[in-house]
Amino acid sequence: MQVKAAIVTELNGPWRTELIDIDEPRAHEVKVKMAFAGMCHSDEHTRVGDMAVPTEVLAYMGVESMFPFIGGHEGSGVVETVGENVDGLAPGDHVAVSFIPSCGKCEYCASGRPYICDLGATTLAGPMISDGTWRHHYGDKNLNRYAQLGTFSEYIVVHEASLLKIDPWYDLRAAALISCGLATGFGSAATRGGVKPGDVVAVIGCGGVGSGAVQGAVHAGARAVIAIDTNQSKVDRAMKIGATHGAISSLDAAFTFLNELTAGKNCDVVILTPGRLTGDLIEQARSITAKGGVIVATAIAPFAQTQVELNLAMFTLYNQELRGTIFGSVAPRVQIPRLLKLHHEGKFIVDELVSREYSIDEVNQGYLDLEAGKNVRGVVRF
Ligand SMILES: [Zn+2]
Ligand SMILES: [Zn+2]
Repeated sequence: MQVKAAIVTELNGPWRTELIDIDEPRAHEVKVKMAFAGMCHSDEHTRVGDMAVPTEVLAYMGVESMFPFIGGHEGSGVVETVGENVDGLAPGDHVAVSFIPSCGKCEYCASGRPYICDLGATTLAGPMISDGTWRHHYGDKNLNRYAQLGTFSEYIVVHEASLLKIDPWYDLRAAALISCGLATGFGSAATRGGVKPGDVVAVIGCGGVGSGAVQGAVHAGARAVIAIDTNQSKVDRAMKIGATHGAISSLDAAFTFLNELTAGKNCDVVILTPGRLTGDLIEQARSITAKGGVIVATAIAPFAQTQVELNLAMFTLYNQELRGTIFGSVAPRVQIPRLLKLHHEGKFIVDELVSREYSIDEVNQGYLDLEAGKNVRGVVRF
C-alpha cells in the first residue's frame, strides 16, 4: 500500500514528506496504523551525520548507506494486521513502539537487561530483523527505518519484538511520548542514577529526556532537583514539573545556590540530557558532583566523539562514577506500562510537555522548531 512518510534521502537533506510503498507483514511482523509519533532529537543525529556509521558496520547491517531512511522512533498506534507466528498481538490491539527491540532470548534479555538486547545492533539501518528483506520502498530504493521503526509514517511494518501491547484505556499520545524520551529520562534518574530519598540531583538539558529525568528524580525522593539549560524557557518548564532550582549553566548553579543548598557538598547525581552530548560537558557535570557521586551520560554524542574533558585527579580523589545508559537501563516492557499507569493516575506529567502538534506534512517544520528551542516535545498526530 502507499502511505505518507517523513523521510531523509541524503546527508543533511531536509525532512521530506513523500508517498512510500509498504508491503504486508511477514512472519513475526506486524502492521500498525500510527496514532502519534514523538519528535525526539535522536533522529536529527542521523540526518546531520552525527550517527554516521562506519561502512564496515553498515555492511554488517546489509546496507551501503543510512539513506534514505524513514525517521521516528517514538510512537503509538493500533494493530492493523499481523503476519504468521506473531504471539500476543492481534488486530485492534493498542501498542507502543520500543526503539530497542526485546527478543527475549539473547543473553541480555534472558538476564533481565533487554534494554541492551543483541537485536539493538541492527537498529540504525538495514532490512527487517525478521528475515533480512525489505518492506518499505521509496521508488526503486529500499528504505531504512530509524531504530527498525520509522514512526513518521501513516502505517509501519515492524518486528513484534519492537512493539508492546498497552491497555486500550491509556492515552495513545502519552504512550508515544513515554515510549522513548520520557522513559529514558525517568530511568536515568530513578534507576541508572540510583537517586535515593534526600539526594540532590542536577539535570543538564531540560528537553523531553530531561523532563523525564526531573520527574524520575522527584519520584525517587530527591530533596532538590536542579534544572540546568541554556534556554531559560526550558528551565521554567522544568520548574513546573518538579524541579526546585534552575540555572543556565553548571557554573551558574555553582556560583549561586549550590553551595548553600548542599553545604558545599555538590550534587549526589548529575544527569546529562542535552540535545547533543559533547566531551566538555562531562567535566562540567563532574565539577558539580559530590564525593562518591554519580554522573549519568544519557544523551547521544556524535559517533566520532572519542575525547572527553575530565579532571581525572578529582574524579579519582572524589571516588566518582560515570555511567552510560540506554533507555534509562530499564526494560521497555516494564517501564512504558508503568509510566502510563502513573500518567493515568495524574502522577506523571506528559501533556504539559507537548509544545505543539504537527501533521505528517510538517515534520521538517517540527525539527526546525526543535532546533530553534521552541519545542520541549513536538508530536505528530496522524
Ligand atoms: Zn528518542
Ligand atoms: Zn534480546
